[in-house]
Amino acid sequence: MNKKAQAIRQIIHVDMDAFYASVEQQDNPILRNQPVIVGGCGDRGVVCACSYETRAFGVKSAMSLAKALQLCPKAIVLPVRMERYRAVSREIFAIFDKFSDRVEPLSIDEAFLDVTGCDRLLGGPLEIARNIRKNIRNELGLPASAGIAPNKYLAKLASQAAKPDGLKMVLSEEVDDFILPLPIDALWGVGKKGKIQLNALGINTIGDLRRLRSEQLIRLFGVNGKRLYELAWGIDERPVVVENTVKSIGQEETFPADLFNVDTLQMHLLRLTEKVASRLRKNAVLAETLTVKVKYSDFQQVTRSKTIEKPSDSVPDMYPVAKGLFFKTEAGRRGIRLLGVIAGNLVPCETVQMTLFEDSQEKCKRKALDEAVDRIRDKYGDPGIKRGSLVD
Ligand SMILES: [Mg+2]
Repeated sequence: MNKKAQAIRQIIHVDMDAFYASVEQQDNPILRNQPVIVGGCGDRGVVCACSYETRAFGVKSAMSLAKALQLCPKAIVLPVRMERYRAVSREIFAIFDKFSDRVEPLSIDEAFLDVTGCDRLLGGPLEIARNIRKNIRNELGLPASAGIAPNKYLAKLASQAAKPDGLKMVLSEEVDDFILPLPIDALWGVGKKGKIQLNALGINTIGDLRRLRSEQLIRLFGVNGKRLYELAWGIDERPVVVENTVKSIGQEETFPADLFNVDTLQMHLLRLTEKVASRLRKNAVLAETLTVKVKYSDFQQVTRSKTIEKPSDSVPDMYPVAKGLFFKTEAGRRGIRLLGVIAGNLVPCETVQMTLFEDSQEKCKRKALDEAVDRIRDKYGDPGIKRGSLVD
């Protein structure tokens, strides 16, 4: 890749600080400056978000609520109010849209903005990022952090470094100074296992990682090795992808060998459903219909669709439907080479009326779990989180 030939991009990553907890503190002034945890109801919940007042005690998101309360007994635990956070999220994204038409949502509370070439109109990237943070603060009363860098990966690292409530810009000539001292698990794709593996080789920082050649990393980490190498050198060419007005969200997989075993196929079906549900939540939409797609060994393809009773973005609602559709195919009798799950007729969350007396405890618990799974997946990739209760 000829780097000189490429114009330097200007990417901003904006990430809300302790989003759910900050919304609760903003909505209810009594909670401000208090240790707030937003998480599951009942005694088996998980932490979905925690205010900075609780983080001082070591509380983290995705931690069990029991553990969090051990660390910070005075924490105020609040239920997840997803509809509210989604409404706030829409306002945040409306602010992003004022500054760039190239906005890539990463989750409910963070996005990449490509502001390359915007200079004349809206000021340089620094001014744009400042104004975005100011607008969010003035209009919504919420803290956001922003990172500015020549690519997505560095912009995200910069916003992490700026937290809480900060702004950091990394110029091309400052990239090495910025990333070399960072621990290797700051790199995308280095999870717990990768960290242990690298630490064992005496590699603790990104600077250490630079000592390894591309071939060595590929030998150690397979296809991810090349990517690790590039990230260690601050290279990330991925564009900011605008995913506008999604009509459907699907996930499919072609298997290396045709599958006959129904149990194995069901495991794949669950995993695909989880991925689709996670993307629905990220896009703040609910599915009205679900489709299961199957391609048999002979490449014949069939789809089976059904309307979901209540539009949903939740695995416990969606998986039983997907399973029913799956058993309407000839799975088990014919080899299957491809399996897919597609959510269709997507509706924005706010159009769905909440049933007044529905089992809100149960619902809250499920939401909390779904969101926690999303977070873990965002951070560590797909760790193979299984929902035991859903698997036969
Ligand atoms: Mg955030």
